[in-house]
Formats: sequence, structure tokens, C-alpha cells
Amino acid sequence: MGKARKLKKNSYLIKAVLKSKFSIKRNLLQGFRDRKKYYSKLDTNADIKSLMYCMLCPNMCRFDCPAVQASKNESHSPAMKAKIGYLLEMGKLEKTNENINPIIEGCVHCSACKEWCFFDFAVGDLLDGVIEDLYLQERLPENVLEFSNRIRNNNGLYDLEHLKKSTKELETFSKGEIYYFPGCVTMGNNTNVITAIKKIALITNTEIISKPLERWCCGAPSIYSGDVEKAKGLAYHNLEHFRSLGIKMIICECPECAYMLKEGYKKIGFDHKIPVYHLSEWIYQLVENKKIKLLNAENSKLLENSFPISYHDPCVLARKMNVIDAPYKLLEKMFPNEFKENLYSKKLTHCCGFGGLVNIVNSKLANTISINRLEEFDKEGIKTIVTGCPTCWYSFMKNNKDLKFEIIDIVELIANFVKK
Ligand code: SF4
Ligand code: SF4
Repeated sequence: MGKARKLKKNSYLIKAVLKSKFSIKRNLLQGFRDRKKYYSKLDTNADIKSLMYCMLCPNMCRFDCPAVQASKNESHSPAMKAKIGYLLEMGKLEKTNENINPIIEGCVHCSACKEWCFFDFAVGDLLDGVIEDLYLQERLPENVLEFSNRIRNNNGLYDLEHLKKSTKELETFSKGEIYYFPGCVTMGNNTNVITAIKKIALITNTEIISKPLERWCCGAPSIYSGDVEKAKGLAYHNLEHFRSLGIKMIICECPECAYMLKEGYKKIGFDHKIPVYHLSEWIYQLVENKKIKLLNAENSKLLENSFPISYHDPCVLARKMNVIDAPYKLLEKMFPNEFKENLYSKKLTHCCGFGGLVNIVNSKLANTISINRLEEFDKEGIKTIVTGCPTCWYSFMKNNKDLKFEIIDIVELIANFVKK
């Protein structure tokens, strides 16, 4: 945020301080002078100063944090998680599972807090460094270590046997300079998306290449479990893999993969120049360049009794990647009358509950957050929920009680209504 915007945003605070009593002004000044006392001099991976600022905040973003809203557990509130992270780093809180759990099970890394934050903090990002330090100190709970070891052993979330389910579908992606990077969750759970990409590639005569058993996990789950060294190994391998194939562009159906390949690799020291797009962006370009036409889908038998239709913005796609226009424009073209935007949409979307490691360490809480999100669609009478993330899709499929909703990935939906 620029200095001028920051000043404008916080002018009310400056006015409040100026109007306050002398003793308050003196205490504030004293605290400011002594501030270095509270910053760590230790060699840590965490941003201690930001954690401290956040823990002193009166939890201004608490109302929009899906974790504390679902669990009603104050140790899951944003400022409290920052406080726990700070105290763990400063050695003021014992590194027991009980003390560590809230910062892992209580944050879906959705960045909703950032939308309201004076400092532009996303608490999930602040906690990454703390979790990395706990990993290096071998203090993380057993279930988190099991998860990171699984990635170490398989170079992904699943073993090769599991992934082989989808390799048949991916065989046709055999040449070209566009690489389709299939996410672990898609390969393991929803091969319909791969079939849909195949159809779109065929209609548009686009050559795509994908090597599902040679590409490794993008590395995002390793970051969440503190294993940054493994994330670096995965990044190195994948970039070498792309270079050996002469790749000029990467497309991903999974926002986590797209964000990790596009921005996350730079953060861990692996800069590259290959453009990375989410599939909704790629399809939107195809429509704009008149390579495909979208049909009006409102009279289709496929979606009978399934209106109104709405879209769930995946947190990473909308807030971290700022990919908002493409999915909305595509859906509004296909459903000019029946598309209804959710009240909590775009940058103000709410998480599906399965972000970060919450579903690994506290699936009950992950499912409650997912149900809360589904209820937001139910209140608006929505019958079909479209999303652009395999993890959101999986979360909603799991919690779609009484099969109340049709849940569909945006690529799978579009593939039914495209023509040359
Ligand atoms: S993320 Fe920002 S708004 Fe939320 S508690 Fe921390 S400092 Fe306050
Ligand atoms: S990233 Fe999401 S879950 Fe984590 S503190 Fe912020 S709003 Fe809450």
C-alpha cells in the first residue's frame, strides 16, 4: 500500500491520538521508543515485527475470519493466532501440541483478514514462518509430520498408484509448448476436469503437453506444513522439467498450484519467466480471441431444475491471484438470466474450509466451515454452485447434505457448452 493511501486510510487514528490525554500520548511515545525490545534478535524465519503488530490489534478482522466464526474458539481468532506465533517464537510459550495446534488447525489461509487489515496482513502468511521454524525444531504435531513425510515420500499428496487413475486421460496431452499442470487433488478425485480440457483443446486445435507422472507436486502443501526445503526441491524439479520440454506457458485448474508456480516459486528463490494461468483465464482468452464460442446454456436438459446458478470464488484465485473477471464473464455469457452472484463474492468470498492444513488436522472444523459456506448459497436459493478449484469442489461435494446442490467445476461446465 502506498504511503498516501495508508495515511488516508488511517487518518482517523491520527486524529484520535492527537485528541487523546497527555498520559496516553506519553505511553504511546514510550512504547514506540522501546519497540526494538520486543522484536526478536534471534535468527527466525518469522516476521516477528508483523506478528507483534497483529497481536496488539483489537482483532479488527475477526468478524470475517471463517475459522473463529465456525469454531467459536478465541485462540483461532486472527490476532490471537499472531500472539501465539509471537510467543512461541520468543520462547515465552511452551512448544506443546496444545499450544501449537491453534495456529495450524485454526487458519485456512484464506486471506479474508487482509481485506480489512490496516497493515494489509494475511495472518496465514504471517504464520508460515512460525510453522517453518517449528518444523526445523522438530516440534510440530505428529499428524503434521506424517503429512509432510507423505509429500517427501511421494513427491505429492498421493502415491503413484493413486495418480495412475488419471494418467489414461492425460495420455493425449503429448506435445506442444503449453503445459497443463494437473493438481494432485484433481488427479486423485475429479478426472472429469481433465476430460473437459481435452475437449476444449480438441475443438480449438490447441497442442497441450502434460506428464503427470514426471511432474511433482507444486509445493504449496509443503509450505503449509513448514517443510520449505522440500518445497524448494519440488520447485527445482518442476522448473527443470518445464525447461527440458521447452514450455512457453503453463495452465492449471488448481488455484493453489497456479499461485505457487506463478508467485510462490519466486518467494522461495526460484524465479522464472514462464507465464502461468488459471484455466478460467485461458478459456476466457480463447473466447475473446474467437477460437471458441460459448452457447447459452439456460435451456439445456443437463441443467434442468438447477437454477439459479452461482459461483464460489476460491480464496486463492480471487484474493491472491486477483482472477475475478474471467470466471464471471464466462458464466454471465452462458447464463444471462439465471446467474446470481453470491452476497459474499469476489474479494469478499468466504473459504470452503479445506484451505491450509485444516482438513488434515481438524476435519470437523473444516467441514463446519464448508457447511457455513454452503448455507450462504442456500439462503439465496441457489441450486447450482460452480467453482474453479478442485479443493473447493471436493469440500462442497463432501458436505452437500441431501444432495441439495449441483456442484460443478467451471471447466467441466464450460466444456458442455462450447463450439468452434
Ligand atoms: S490481520 Fe490486521 S486487522 Fe486482523 S488482527 Fe491482525 S492486524 Fe488486526
Ligand atoms: S487467513 Fe483466513 S482463517 Fe487465517 S486468520 Fe485470516 S481470515 Fe482467519
